Amino acid sequence: MSFAFVSDHLALDFAATAAWRTTQYTELLAEPEDFARWATAAEVVDRLEVVSQADLVTARTLREAIYRLALAAATGEPGDAQDAAVIRQAAAHTPVRPALQALGRVERRGEVQDVLATVAASASDLLGGPGRLLVRHCTGEPCTRLFLDRSRAGTRRWCSKQSCGSRINAAAYRRRVRLDGQSTKMTRDKYPAMRQA
Ligand SMILES: [Zn+2]
Repeated sequence: MSFAFVSDHLALDFAATAAWRTTQYTELLAEPEDFARWATAAEVVDRLEVVSQADLVTARTLREAIYRLALAAATGEPGDAQDAAVIRQAAAHTPVRPALQALGRVERRGEVQDVLATVAASASDLLGGPGRLLVRHCTGEPCTRLFLDRSRAGTRRWCSKQSCGSRINAAAYRRRVRLDGQSTKMTRDKYPAMRQA
């Protein structure tokens, strides 16, 4: 599983680096190098030269605090004060400062703590303000990704229409076909891609 940036928010994309939390827990930050890859893929920093095992533990601790508080926001629960403290502490460092070089070119230099501060600051803005009311849990089980619902009608259900949305639609289609009493074999032959869905 590779990193995806579909939550419409940096902090929520970071929280999603542990995927499928309730069924097949998948750790996308398995090695220190994974955190460096995420930070550059998220365009928080241009490169991270050194990430230690201790840095990875710190990153995961911050991630879990963000996840729990964002989940509390999505489910209307108060959230844990300790999680807020973890985020506050990480945000106390200097974040990565983008240095504009020219039109279309920006340099982002920083160390692990700067990257974590950037993510923590982004989480603070989200979870401390009205944006927290737009945090949603993806309905595409087994996906456990949280996302920000920026849709005008406030009806976004999936983290990604391409992955979760299409998977659920395919499942719903199969159910409909079965209910209609038609052969599911026909469906499989017609839509071979749905076999993996
Ligand atoms: Zn999803």
